[in-house]
Amino acid sequence: QQIAQSYACAAIGTFASRSLSTDTSGRLQGKVSIITGGASGIGREAALLFAREGSKIVVADLSEEGAAATAKEVQAMGGSAIAVKVDVAVEAEVAAVVAKAEDEYGAVHVMFNNAGIMMSSDDDAVNTSEEVIDKTLAVNVKGVLNGCKYSIPAMRRAGGGSIVNTASFVSFMGAATPQVAYTASKGAVLALTRELAVVHARENIRVNNLCPGPLRTELLMKFLDTEEKKHRRLVHVPMGRFGEAAEMAKGALFLASDDSSYMTGNNLLLDGGITAAYVTPE
Ligand code: NAD
Repeated sequence: QQIAQSYACAAIGTFASRSLSTDTSGRLQGKVSIITGGASGIGREAALLFAREGSKIVVADLSEEGAAATAKEVQAMGGSAIAVKVDVAVEAEVAAVVAKAEDEYGAVHVMFNNAGIMMSSDDDAVNTSEEVIDKTLAVNVKGVLNGCKYSIPAMRRAGGGSIVNTASFVSFMGAATPQVAYTASKGAVLALTRELAVVHARENIRVNNLCPGPLRTELLMKFLDTEEKKHRRLVHVPMGRFGEAAEMAKGALFLASDDSSYMTGNNLLLDGGITAAYVTPE
């Protein structure tokens, strides 16, 4: 009984010291992370958080200026980061990002395929143009696949790694305010992640989805440009507010690090309760 008690105390001690600590805990110490869409929103917050946790960061974004600004922020806090311009929909450009990461930092351990778009003229099946469908699928689906295609061989060379793909709560739910190309693209991310996770499970490569709810980032706020449109969404969110990019970055960190070491092919929904709700509080 005494032994059991001392184990219990040790366990409580460990837990307490971890949960009370305000220090960075180095969850990604010595790792190299590529973050697409790193110029803004979730990607930018993830770059700052992953760097605080010890990772070297490759900030990859269509916006060269934005990527450089995030890399500068990481450097200003004493971290190491480089910025690379990429269109994730172009395979050769994604290949070049992974090559650059290996050249600069020697390996790739984390691939956060987070870049995504939602086009303002995205609508229902009848009213969405072919151009919007093609562009949305090219960035949101092919972009994620490109990231997996080139990071998986790099992770094999590194002895393993973690891929985090940004899907969405709309991978699970339909909405009467349609954006069908976007919704289809996020459903595809869910399915491709599951399959890649199974294929690479014995190679020490994990693949999971981060599924954000509606966020107060540029992507959604540009789309919901009136109070009425915002309200039409918020009424369905039990917590009654939009999520923050920084809250998503914490989920991405969990998936990227060994904290989620027994998790693969799965989805982390950070959505203010939206997918749990039938009726929301008044
Ligand atoms: P954001 O618009 O703030 O950031 C997206 C970034 O991706 C931008 O920096 C943009 O320049 C970059 N980007 C766009 N197209 C690119 C391309 N072809 N190649 C490389 N970079 C490109 O958006 P966010 O809210 O941080 O979104 C990040 C991810 O989260 C996206 O995949 C989005 O679909 C997803 N998501 C967002 C919400 C939300 O409500 N904001 C909800 C669920 C899922």
